Amino acid sequence: MTKLAIFSTKKYDIEYFNRWNSGEFEIEYFDVALNPSSSLLCEGFDAVCIFVNDVADGETLKRLKVHGIKILALRCAGYNNVDLDAAEREGITVVRVPAYSPEAIAEHTLALILTLNRKIHKAYNRVRENNFSLENLVGFNLQGKTVGIIGTGRIGQAFARILMGLGCEILAYDIHENEELKIKGVKYVSLDELLKDSKIVSLHCPLLPSTRKMIGSRELSMMQEGSMLINTSRGALIDTKEVIKSLKSKKLGALGLDVYEQEENLFFHDHSGEILEDDIIARLLTFPNVLVTSHQGFLTEEALNEIVLTTFKNILEVQEGKECINKVKKL
Ligand code: NAD
Repeated sequence: MTKLAIFSTKKYDIEYFNRWNSGEFEIEYFDVALNPSSSLLCEGFDAVCIFVNDVADGETLKRLKVHGIKILALRCAGYNNVDLDAAEREGITVVRVPAYSPEAIAEHTLALILTLNRKIHKAYNRVRENNFSLENLVGFNLQGKTVGIIGTGRIGQAFARILMGLGCEILAYDIHENEELKIKGVKYVSLDELLKDSKIVSLHCPLLPSTRKMIGSRELSMMQEGSMLINTSRGALIDTKEVIKSLKSKKLGALGLDVYEQEENLFFHDHSGEILEDDIIARLLTFPNVLVTSHQGFLTEEALNEIVLTTFKNILEVQEGKECINKVKKL
């Protein structure tokens, strides 16, 4: 039986991992995130499973090797939190779940756009206070509007399909153009053109050294007055301080985030009884035209089922020495 340590465990992880474990895995669940000090807990396990905000840096991986860990299974698509050089050095195979449900994130992206545009977050609170006024709730039709998609991989493509149904014009920017999308009418342009011509800009590319802070002051200055920026990808794709400046100057009309640069200290936990120490997120939350969700794009039943099934399959394939298509390779 494979002994599996799962870090950053939430109730839904336990529910879905237990649902699909047919006895091949002996699982221990840990609430804490993986980092150099919590790596002590890995002693005696065969594989370790982590999520987006766990830290698999050089020091952690070195310690995992000492504890005999051979497999690091990410139950997510992004792997920016793993030092792949160190993993190779320590002989630890890294696997991930590249496509558990692109639609889950694409649909959450649409939810952020519609909520911000039609001001559902404001309307919900108002009506509950018996305030039935429509003042300041004017939105715009999405039909006919130009939406810019940065990164047309699995999620970007799923999002493009949704936008087509809404009658939007779609501009795209990616280092690799997708022929199928082009046939369907998506127009690939430069990043600068996309920023200039889109009413809504949505980020769907991975966090890499080349994409870190790809939306900074120069890019924000190119965007249309009153346009909307949506990030459901990784927080550090945008320079949050510059985004705040743009919101304050009313250049940026709305911001929807499911990810945040410093999210590892905040997201997935209840901090409601505490004083918020992060002044950047605190400022963001004061804007009426900013909507933040705490990295919940993936949180659908379909995605959770797929995450667990793929994670189990990945681990077993690596253990049995089979070819695993979800091994993370250095780019
Ligand atoms: P993917 O690998 O299928 O697609 C990524 C696309 O980005 C590719 O087409 C790639 O060519 C493109 N790209 C790479 N570098 C680029 C650059 N410099 N400029 C423009 N495009 C570039 O990935 P995916 O499954 O579509 O996921 C995209 C990202 O979404 C992930 O990396 C992850 O960070 C994020 N994500 C978020 C959630 C969530 O819950 N919010 C869940 C899953 C994934």
